[in-house]
Amino acid sequence: MADTRDSDVVTALREALRGPVIAAGDPGYDEASAVYNAMIDKRPTAIAQCANVADVMAAVRVCRQAGATVSVRGGGHNAGGLGVADGAVCIDLAHLDGIHIDPAAGTVRAEGGATLGDVDHATHAFGLAVPAGIISTTGVGGLTLGGGIGYLTRKAGLTIDNLLAADVVLADGTLVTCDATRHPDLFWALRGGGGNFGIVTSFLFRAAQVKNVFAGPVLYDLDDTPELLRWYREVLPGLPEDLNGFFAVLTVPPGPPFPEELHLRKVAGVVWCYSGPAERAEEVLAPVRSFGKPIMDGIMEMPFPMWNSAFDALYPPGYQWYWRSDSFDQITDDAIEAHHKFGTQLPSMFSTMHLYSIDGAAHRVAAADTAFGPREAIWSCVIVGVDPEPAKAVDIKDWAIGYWDALHPSSIGGAYVNFMMEEGADRVRASYGANYDRLAKIKAVYDPDNFFHVNQNIKPAGG
Ligand SMILES: Cc1cc2nc3c(=O)[nH]c(=O)nc-3n(C[C@H](O)[C@H](O)[C@H](O)COP(=O)(O)OP(=O)(O)OC[C@H]3O[C@@H](n4cnc5c(N)ncnc54)[C@H](O)[C@@H]3O)c2cc1C
Repeated sequence: MADTRDSDVVTALREALRGPVIAAGDPGYDEASAVYNAMIDKRPTAIAQCANVADVMAAVRVCRQAGATVSVRGGGHNAGGLGVADGAVCIDLAHLDGIHIDPAAGTVRAEGGATLGDVDHATHAFGLAVPAGIISTTGVGGLTLGGGIGYLTRKAGLTIDNLLAADVVLADGTLVTCDATRHPDLFWALRGGGGNFGIVTSFLFRAAQVKNVFAGPVLYDLDDTPELLRWYREVLPGLPEDLNGFFAVLTVPPGPPFPEELHLRKVAGVVWCYSGPAERAEEVLAPVRSFGKPIMDGIMEMPFPMWNSAFDALYPPGYQWYWRSDSFDQITDDAIEAHHKFGTQLPSMFSTMHLYSIDGAAHRVAAADTAFGPREAIWSCVIVGVDPEPAKAVDIKDWAIGYWDALHPSSIGGAYVNFMMEEGADRVRASYGANYDRLAKIKAVYDPDNFFHVNQNIKPAGG
């Protein structure tokens, strides 16, 4: 039951905002407050569905004045459910999903609540793409602010490496534009520091020239994992940067394009994506397609947005999710054994482990040039326990934790913050490494009261 203070905030928000404010008990509340990860159930005071930037500014001012806790939701994909919180006002950016392309400059402006699919659709018409993640329903907001790893990382860097400027509503409700010369400290912090510094209403990106890609999985018998991973760890860093490949253990989905005899078989594989000139595709891909004894070669030419949404249907909202992550600068023999062992124990058809490379163009940016923590890692590992059935929640969680425990000793000690659940302040600090103290100082300047704390939180220095 909402208390009087809650209803005062809701009334004030309704008076100040043009977009709808959905409070506990209103029709549509359950849908509006639902978390992508069905393992997490939060009961926010209200969801303020902002219609424009003025609404975002007003929502911050109203909540601040009322002493209300605020959460910020972009695409709503955070596995830890950090877009909403119990008893908080969710400032929901879903209606701020506009995209504007400047083809002459090769730049893309995306509003703070856009999804990767919104960006891909708009950019593809111009033969452009913004380097981002692998599932198109993910939010540009959360993904960018944490770093942004995906199929174009080796070619063009992390998403933040392509961020040119951002409009940010600060904790006092004012809006600033930051870039390399205006509020450069804030601009540095936004590139990896998550939602700690304000609400980004608009991102300006440099786009890469990408139209069609040659992409797909090359799959192997699970018992080939040791041989495959030993080859992969040696070969990947030397491959042309137009070629990206993430290693995975997975269960083959029971449908096209997978041949029936492979359906539901546990396998290992590398998911390749070549985004360079078409006339070089065959030559670049030949050595990786011919390694070992593949049981399926699914590489084909397709438009980039098609590939970037190829896994969407496998992971709709409303499944149980539990994931753990770490960053690695090597794949040790012990880790290889663990990948093989936990691959044989995949607890459900949807559960998987991905090793994403962070090298090539991403390694030409120095660790201290952005706030992103694991810059010196070569791989970001995410162990993803997923299943539609709540009854499987314990199994997928136990598997992910056991797998993580086995790998953690060979990690560099921290994760990529976007692949974390709520794991406590020490894990956040470890994940930012040497950048943490600078982030805490900038937090003390822009958000000294820690108004934006529903996130992988960086505490203001001296607070
Ligand atoms: C199916 C799936 C696939 C994924 N694939 C990838 C991938 O390929 N590469 C990758 O790098 N990551 C990937 N991720 C992780 C993803 O980057 C994070 O889950 C991220 O938090 C999602 O952002 P969001 O805006 O959708 O989330 P939300 O839940 O809306 O927000 C998460 C947090 O981000 C902050 N936030 C969001 N938008 C804004 C904004 N505009 N201004 C200020 N703060 C904001 C808030 O602090 C909020 O707490 C994936 C996640 C899922 C569930």
